[in-house]
Amino acid sequence: MSATLIDGKAFAERTRERIARDVTRLKAEKGVVPGLAVVLVGDDPASRVYVASKERQAREAGFHSVTYRLSGDVAEAEVLKTIADLNADPAIHGILVQLPLPEGIDSWKVILAIDPDKDVDGFHPVNAGRLSIGLPGPVPCTPKGCMMLLEDTLGDISGKSALVIGRSTIVGKPMAMLLLAANATVTIAHSRTRNLAELGRQADILVAAVGKPHFVQGDWIKPGAVVLDVGINRLDPTEEYPKGRLVGDVDFEAARAVAGAITPVPGGIGPMTIACLLDNTLAACQARLETGSE
Ligand code: NDP
Repeated sequence: MSATLIDGKAFAERTRERIARDVTRLKAEKGVVPGLAVVLVGDDPASRVYVASKERQAREAGFHSVTYRLSGDVAEAEVLKTIADLNADPAIHGILVQLPLPEGIDSWKVILAIDPDKDVDGFHPVNAGRLSIGLPGPVPCTPKGCMMLLEDTLGDISGKSALVIGRSTIVGKPMAMLLLAANATVTIAHSRTRNLAELGRQADILVAAVGKPHFVQGDWIKPGAVVLDVGINRLDPTEEYPKGRLVGDVDFEAARAVAGAITPVPGGIGPMTIACLLDNTLAACQARLETGSE
């Protein structure tokens, strides 16, 4: 058996097209343009590339898109002032601070400064809380993208067993919350978990968010399972960005022979992340219209 490839690139493109249509309609009917502000501190090469893509895709979808590029030695107070200004700016519906921040700037202090209703990354503790108790709010983009692909592949996942490998605030934990909200039976694994291979073989859905190339082996996978590979690992980190082959956390060829469906790297989960960022920004704009505060 060879698994079906889940084409995240094509799905993300369709998602962005749908968002662009909604943005055009909002402009025509309500005279409102969703606004996304990205704050980039320092000159980390990978962050620069991500931010440029976010900016381009936001513009292409018809958003008002602004990027604040602050130098790596900026004072934390200056970053907090930028956030406060964006919180107060009615043209901005979504604020994203590109992580990681340089040393000397407390990431949590910065995230906590973002208005939770503009926190389109979904990292603010208010939004983590909303997710955990089932209230609406922005959901972290990568797990949200995983869920969209999963539901497109499987339909209803109620009662399925899911294994999430990784418990980060950005991917693993919100992923587990989303699976639980969709009525899957969820196991969260991490670096202290024992018998990972055995847990994998019991899972109808396996999500790998570890950050280790080829970590998940083919014989850890239940025949027919859906495998979502979140990992982005550069095989030769000595090569200058963006050169060097990208691989996921799953031994793709081995897994493909056993799984029912699998996301490739690149072209799987990665492209969904920015599409979900745009979706969260559009939703934040719509939510503000609904509460009448626009
Ligand atoms: P983190 O480093 O924050 O978390 C990694 C997790 O993996 C931790 O919970 C860690 O456990 C767990 N882990 C490490 N070693 C093992 C092990 N031997 N067995 C089981 N679990 C283990 O990473 P992120 O969640 O931020 O990212 C994970 C991957 O996803 C990375 O490759 C990253 O680049 C990629 N990524 C991709 C995105 C996309 O857009 N596609 C977006 C975000 C991330 P413990 O908590 O015990 O240390």
